[in-house]
Amino acid sequence: MCDLLRWVGGFTREATLIRRNQVLSTERVTHEANGPDTRRWNDMLIWLGVIRMCCDCRRMMAPTHVVVGAILAMPILVLSPGYAVTAALAAIAGGIFPDFDLFFGRHRRTLHFPGGYWALATPILGWAVLEPGTATVAAAFFLTAAGIHSLQDWFGAPPEARPWESTSNKAVYSHLTGQWLPPKRWVRYDGAPEDLAITVGLGVPGIVLFDSPVSVLLIISVAIGVVYASIRKHIPRYVSGLIE
Ligand SMILES: [Zn+2]
Repeated sequence: MCDLLRWVGGFTREATLIRRNQVLSTERVTHEANGPDTRRWNDMLIWLGVIRMCCDCRRMMAPTHVVVGAILAMPILVLSPGYAVTAALAAIAGGIFPDFDLFFGRHRRTLHFPGGYWALATPILGWAVLEPGTATVAAAFFLTAAGIHSLQDWFGAPPEARPWESTSNKAVYSHLTGQWLPPKRWVRYDGAPEDLAITVGLGVPGIVLFDSPVSVLLIISVAIGVVYASIRKHIPRYVSGLIE
């Protein structure tokens, strides 16, 4: 297991960042000089990398984006039940997609388009209404969810380790104006009680109304949201320096 994690860690940006972390590097050199502790220390670095990735993933409020995607597709259960699962899965994927810029480019800029996704989604939504099909429905819901995601990031807090300290004023980049939009902080920070309330409140209807695999995805997302909210403020204490 540790070998697998070491292999994965070696190919991730997260591991690279950790190895470059000055505080940890200083301590690692000390441990490596001691010889017998080298393997244990490297294993610890890998696990810290995994924790950091989890923190990054949660910064995007992933469970909230997932349940919002399912809510978006809920009218299709009534209007055109045959496309409901397609719409839900596409919306969930679109709700997560913008945060892949955590791994390349600039987070909340490279794949975040508060206006751009809507410019594409609107005509494709019209096309899907006129000619419903798997491709048109999936594209319409994917792009709409990606647009909502970009706006959600604007309504929340910046991607900081301790967003409740309000040290950043960059919520999401607007490619239309060429400026960073300041956070509205309607949700104070990821994992805040209001964030959890949104995740649970929007997730439960989907769990009840959708069948698997959508309902299973929602159950997992809500469970992650509950656990994360319960430990959110403790995380920076244990991984300080890794998620700054
Ligand atoms: Zn985002």
